[in-house]
Amino acid sequence: MATIPWLVDVLRGAGVQVVVEGDWLNRMRPGSFDPIGVLWHHTAATSSASNPHPALGICINGRSDLPGPLCQALVDYNGVFHVISAGRCNHAGTSGGSGPIPAGDGNTLMIGWEIDYNGVNQEMTAAQYNASIAATAAVLTRLGRDSSYARGHRETSTSGKIDPSFIDLNVMRADVAAKMSGGGNPPAWSSIVDNTTAGRFTASANWGVSTYSGQRYGADYRYAEPVAASDVAWYRFNVPATANYRIDAWWPATSGYNSAAPYVVSTTTGNRTIIVDQRATGGQWRSLGTFTLPAGDANRVGVSRWSSATGLIVADAVRLTRV
Ligand SMILES: [Zn+2]
Repeated sequence: MATIPWLVDVLRGAGVQVVVEGDWLNRMRPGSFDPIGVLWHHTAATSSASNPHPALGICINGRSDLPGPLCQALVDYNGVFHVISAGRCNHAGTSGGSGPIPAGDGNTLMIGWEIDYNGVNQEMTAAQYNASIAATAAVLTRLGRDSSYARGHRETSTSGKIDPSFIDLNVMRADVAAKMSGGGNPPAWSSIVDNTTAGRFTASANWGVSTYSGQRYGADYRYAEPVAASDVAWYRFNVPATANYRIDAWWPATSGYNSAAPYVVSTTTGNRTIIVDQRATGGQWRSLGTFTLPAGDANRVGVSRWSSATGLIVADAVRLTRV
């Protein structure tokens, strides 16, 4: 049985932040391990800045129905790689075959990153995305394989796994390929649309104009009562390339604003809704997550009035940043 005792050095050499979790060189499942690729997962746990790796203990120790270790490394909220094992882990189950990865024993064939986010109403963070790209590129280079040997669990699973959610795996592989070819980071691109940005913000007359809160971005912002109807205030962006973008929103907060304001993001795989609490964390950029957006000039982010919570819904500024 092979091991990959080079993993920590390869990750650090790629600029990835690493935390070594105990006796990683000797913590593994019995059985064969001869990896040719990398498999991406999400943990289904809800991570946050104050709780960046909620699934770490389970990934090390396993569950009652599945003994650990459950992955070679866990990627925390801040993009730090927690290296758990240099050998075989229970992460992949049976591979049904995907790309160049054949059908067979997935735990023999692949090294697994468990990216710690819940995948239901939480996206991979930009830090997790960037670290996963860098780590995958470095490991595939070490294995002598190209970016097609990186797969998502939902591609190889024979049991209906959905992870990793909310990410376009072809775009992710393209970013790994760019990194492996020395292309480095994708071209830097960021754009802000405020409610006063000419030609880029549209809202019905039901959305009033306010300067009430000093936490506003720019001169003013728009506000509307919640209703059970679609009356979206839209932000239009000229997206330069189909790629992954972090989306940040800025709203002024007061205790009288809405606790469940829906932001709508128009992605390559349909609309996604992110609920935010506009009673708090105002006057700053707040990440809604990282999404794959199609190239082109179109309405990409909106604020909907469709909330069952009380309090005014506000629409101020939105920022897109390529990751
Ligand atoms: Zn998985």
